[in-house]
Amino acid sequence: MLKKLLLPICLALTFSACAKAPAPVEPKTSKLFAMDTVMDLSVYTDDDSLLTEAADLVSQLEHSLSTTDSNSEIYTANSTGSAVLSDSTAELLERALGFCEKTDGALDLSIYPVVRAWGFTTGTYQVPAQQELDSLLKYVDYQKIAYSSADQTVSLPEGMEIDLGSVAKGYTSDRLIQLFRENGVTSALLNLGGNVQTLGTKPDGSLWRIGIKDPSGNSYLGVLSTADQAVITSGGYERFFEGEDGTIYWHIIDPKTGYPAKNGLISATAVGAEGVYCDALSTALFIMGPEKAADFWREHRDFETILVTEQNEVLITPGLADSFQLMEDSPYKLTVISDTESKN
Ligand code: ADP
Ligand code: MG
Repeated sequence: MLKKLLLPICLALTFSACAKAPAPVEPKTSKLFAMDTVMDLSVYTDDDSLLTEAADLVSQLEHSLSTTDSNSEIYTANSTGSAVLSDSTAELLERALGFCEKTDGALDLSIYPVVRAWGFTTGTYQVPAQQELDSLLKYVDYQKIAYSSADQTVSLPEGMEIDLGSVAKGYTSDRLIQLFRENGVTSALLNLGGNVQTLGTKPDGSLWRIGIKDPSGNSYLGVLSTADQAVITSGGYERFFEGEDGTIYWHIIDPKTGYPAKNGLISATAVGAEGVYCDALSTALFIMGPEKAADFWREHRDFETILVTEQNEVLITPGLADSFQLMEDSPYKLTVISDTESKN
């Protein structure tokens, strides 16, 4: 009905009044420090207040999701065993629990006490004793997180603590994209500490070119041409320490062992429409390792991925074959993951 009324009104006005205003040539930019990372927002808009709204949204989400802020909802859940959640936290928890299930526990929100035992929460790194890991792993099981959507309440068994850190930045970029889109923005590039999400194309209609980090160097592995997608990478290089024997230990923990996941990958990138899903996937695929990650893709096919193995191989899904390019003279070997067979 509304549409029927609007159309003649639109036709009666001049064409330019009804057509979408072209995106500004220069973006408004803003740099925020939140969620333990630097966030760069580049938004093609004339409206300065949108960037203020974006900063407010980020700090509101950080305030709810922090594991260390004693006023946060997650802190309350962890310290008292239960919490009533705001709409955003409830939505993210519900989605995240779904990803734990979908990845068969590679992602597990209750891994937090183990992450802390390694010192990744404070930077005071140490290799925990096996006995300590064994006793902490008893509390790791996302299936025991009780969430009631009716009253938006989460309850945790004694000893369990949760952390939404593996999905928080992806969820935040989704919410920012939503805010910008609802306000008429058609072109934006967000970089939340290496988690990239794009809105539309560049203002001139060309694709964004996103550099994917080389996990074993300081430069780039390659470039992905994309529009309207999240491009999210998890890698062992992001946060790690060297043990006394020279072993490198990183911040992505395999819930099966309590040790940093060492299953053959040095980075995993997930590409898709939704930041929160790609953030969950980048962590989970990294933990799965190349074979299981490829099988997971064959089973679901609702994302694309770039996997970098310890053997200097780059495995990409067929959907990226035309849009991802290795750097010139790359030491890596590029392989397109087979659509059907399992790689043995
Ligand atoms: P980053 O935060 O560096 O971008 P990720 O999105 O991969 O990287 O998230 C890693 C964070 O998730 C870790 O710092 C840790 O707090 C948490 N984490 C580590 N292992 C797991 C796991 N198996 N399941 C869920 N969260 C995890
Ligand atoms: Mg992640």
